[in-house]
Parts: sequence; C-alpha cells; structure tokens
Amino acid sequence: MERILVSACLMGRKVRYDGAAKTSGDALLADWRREGRLVPFCPEVEGGLPVPRPAAEIEAGAGGAAVLAGAARVLAADGSDVTQAFLAGAQSALAVATSFDVKIAILKEGSPSCGSLTIYDGGFRGHRLPGQGVTTALLGLHGIAVFSEDRIAEAGELLREIENG
Ligand code: SF4
Repeated sequence: MERILVSACLMGRKVRYDGAAKTSGDALLADWRREGRLVPFCPEVEGGLPVPRPAAEIEAGAGGAAVLAGAARVLAADGSDVTQAFLAGAQSALAVATSFDVKIAILKEGSPSCGSLTIYDGGFRGHRLPGQGVTTALLGLHGIAVFSEDRIAEAGELLREIENG
C-alpha cells in the first residue's frame, strides 16, 4: 500500500507556531487515515523548534529552493535566524518519506516549510506570493509530488494511477 506523508497540523496535531492545529475535514484524507496510509509529520517541530514559536517567513521574495541552496534565510518575527531548524526539518521529512517509499505528500498551504503553491513574502504583513516552502522544495527535488490540502482530489488521482500501474 502506498503511504502518504501529511502535515501533522492537518491531522489535528497542535504543532503550529501559534499552538493550534489546522485540522482538515477532507473525506478522502479521512479514508486514507482509516486505511493506515498516512504518515503525519511536522518539519518545524522535528527540526527542533518549540510549540508555540514565533511566526517565520522566508526572507523577501525568496522560496524554499533558495534556502536549500544557501541563498536565502528563514527569519522569525522576532528577528532570529531559524534557517538551520528549517533545513533540519526538511531533511528529516525526506528521511521519513524515503523510509516509507512515499511518492505523494499532502502539506499545508502557505507555510514556509510546507507551502506548495504560495508562501508569505517575508514582510510579516500577511502577503502571499507564488512559491514553495523548504520541505516542499526538498521533497520535490527527490521526485515526491506535493499537494496542498486544497488539492487532495488531485493527489487521489495520482494515487490511483500509481496503484493501478
Ligand atoms: S511546519 Fe508544516 S506540519 Fe508543521 S505546523 Fe507548519 S504547516 Fe503544519
């Protein structure tokens, strides 16, 4: 059975920076949970950051790929540099995904770790721009397809294609 990596906050775990969850009520995700497919994971917590923690954003205009390349930092709202924790979390996510032979991930949109279509712009003003988080960028480099919680149906189509050969 194909396993699917999923942001822990979407599974109801209170791991977000503000100490809350972002529980998804998606029916397909619930089916996959019952089937035992899901591998919940929070890159930021596994990277060593506490709950709660200051909000963090990739610095202005950059995305996860630039962070992986050492060309941009992840900064917390209090000004601290949390790049190393984000990189460690991304590497842990990749290690877990690889250990389960994961080909599909469902990750929380907008996050500097988990975003797949949009991230915040680094100004801490609530503005988003197109881009990927650090974990999403690393998983993508290793051939893992990342979908947001708004694209679970598309992930389901890919799962069917993989399982039906
Ligand atoms: S790093 Fe990902 S899994 Fe962890 S709280 Fe943020 S969005 Fe959720």
